[in-house]
Amino acid sequence: MIPTMNTEEHLAHKRHSLAHLLAAAVLELWPDTKNTIGPAINTGFYYDFEFAAPIAEEDLPKIEKKMREIVKGWKKFDHEEVSNVDAAKRFAGNPYKVELIADIKKAGEKITLYTSGAFTDLCRGGHVDNPAKDIEPSSWKLDRLAGAYWRGDEKNKMLTRIYGLAFDTKKELDEYETKIEEAKKRDHKKLGKELDLFTFSDLVGAGLPLWTPYGTTLRNTLDEFVWELRRKRGYERVEIPHITKKDLYETSGHWEKFKEELFRITTREGHEFAMKPMNCPHHTQIYARKQWSYRELPQRYANTTACYRDEQTGELSGLSRVRAFSQDDAHVFCRMSQAKEEFLKIWDIVHEFYPTFGFSLRVRLSLHDPAHKEKYLGGKENWEKAENMLREIVKEKQVLSFEGVGEAAFYGPKLDFMAKDALDREWQVATIQLDMNMPERFDLYCINEKSEKERIVMIHAAIMGSIERFLSILIEHTAGAFPFWLAPVQVKVIPVRETHHEYAKKVADELRAAGIRADFDGSDEGMGKKVRAAKVQKIPYWLVVGDKEVAARAAALESRDKGPVGAVAVPDLIAKFKKETSERT
Ligand SMILES: [Zn+2]
Ligand SMILES: [Zn+2]
Repeated sequence: MIPTMNTEEHLAHKRHSLAHLLAAAVLELWPDTKNTIGPAINTGFYYDFEFAAPIAEEDLPKIEKKMREIVKGWKKFDHEEVSNVDAAKRFAGNPYKVELIADIKKAGEKITLYTSGAFTDLCRGGHVDNPAKDIEPSSWKLDRLAGAYWRGDEKNKMLTRIYGLAFDTKKELDEYETKIEEAKKRDHKKLGKELDLFTFSDLVGAGLPLWTPYGTTLRNTLDEFVWELRRKRGYERVEIPHITKKDLYETSGHWEKFKEELFRITTREGHEFAMKPMNCPHHTQIYARKQWSYRELPQRYANTTACYRDEQTGELSGLSRVRAFSQDDAHVFCRMSQAKEEFLKIWDIVHEFYPTFGFSLRVRLSLHDPAHKEKYLGGKENWEKAENMLREIVKEKQVLSFEGVGEAAFYGPKLDFMAKDALDREWQVATIQLDMNMPERFDLYCINEKSEKERIVMIHAAIMGSIERFLSILIEHTAGAFPFWLAPVQVKVIPVRETHHEYAKKVADELRAAGIRADFDGSDEGMGKKVRAAKVQKIPYWLVVGDKEVAARAAALESRDKGPVGAVAVPDLIAKFKKETSERT
């Protein structure tokens, strides 16, 4: 027989067949359970149930054992087509299935049932031929329980979801589980607490992170790095208030488009204001303050500042999804003919910034969908020009890239950068967007060579994007072991005994005076414990000082990443640390 199924499809069929098996096992163990739906997902499968009495994680081994028993008798899936009346009769005790049958009928589709062993389910198909033979027993397992609303709607009943993991082989299953374990250890919410970087307060509210001294150092150091890269390329800093009159967002279109997420304020005089959900509209008004000659363009405004969005409480998550976040935002106001050069400059910043942390990048060229012209603003000619320009950039730079048709913003095409982290997860990070819409709405122009008004374009250019979200990625990528130049505490000075305190303190002071973030451990703990504490805090270097070091005006240097270095004179330490900071190694 010629294999017609690709491996990906085969895996999906295997996963979905396991969902059938899961439902069969649950119904044998608890016959009064109502089973609902059970699809394949990209790590395995799940099935949602309404149990008569709640079950617990402890029940999973029992269910899994039953599945392994049942599968031995499943040699095939039998398929039958039935009328909706028949189907409704057969699932009469299960209101979820009855609802699904009614929907299938309404959609005018065929109703099909699949049976293996003693279990029949309403299903569209997509199974392995012979579950007993085709499902390798060591390649799957049940994973965990979760709550899930029927049809994902919180107005509906909460069901119990049982998740299973399933891969092609046991090896892939093991690898996946190792990765999950590692991801749990690296969870930024957990590390944020352990490393004392940020906190949340019930009084302040959910989704509103508060930054500790260490966390603030981290943010500012990152922001300084971005600013350094921008300053070299002609950016200037601007500053704006965090609220605005409604009028600004009516003109920009955000009042309508951001309706749900906008924090609104009514003043005592009854005027309507809003907290800013982004900075672009404010920045247009800095550009619009005067008339510009083409000779003065581009104008490049950089502004690291907080934005506010009224996210739903259920969707908030650590630093990944918050209600207040800071953007390292920038906007370039320029002529269309200058846009390519400006894009290249931002491109270079992105490619200088991300590899510093060991992220590898690929680029998505996000284009408009020609089949849905109505979704986009601006004429065909402008779009062609803009997209060709972006395509040229990607080609010239010879990087890993792919095209995303339909991924453009309604106001213009963009370059989206995807960063791969230490766990091989890909995150969308920086984006450079060409905007032909905002200048139109705010009537932004320059006076060109012919003394005519010429419409300009705007480029949105955040490097980290949201600093909170970037930090959630960076914390997990580095597991909290930040590079030396970025670490909130770069060096810890550890005295061997009480008698060495004074000298240790002096060393720490000297390092601090040289601009190095050094701490002195003056606690009563023994030296071994102090070193362990420095390791737990993931401090890049610690210096141990005892009699020998005091006599030699030196300190015994040890590195988090490379182990003991040996005794180094204090001035040499300062030179070494300064060099590593400025080189960002
Ligand atoms: Zn099925
Ligand atoms: Zn913007």
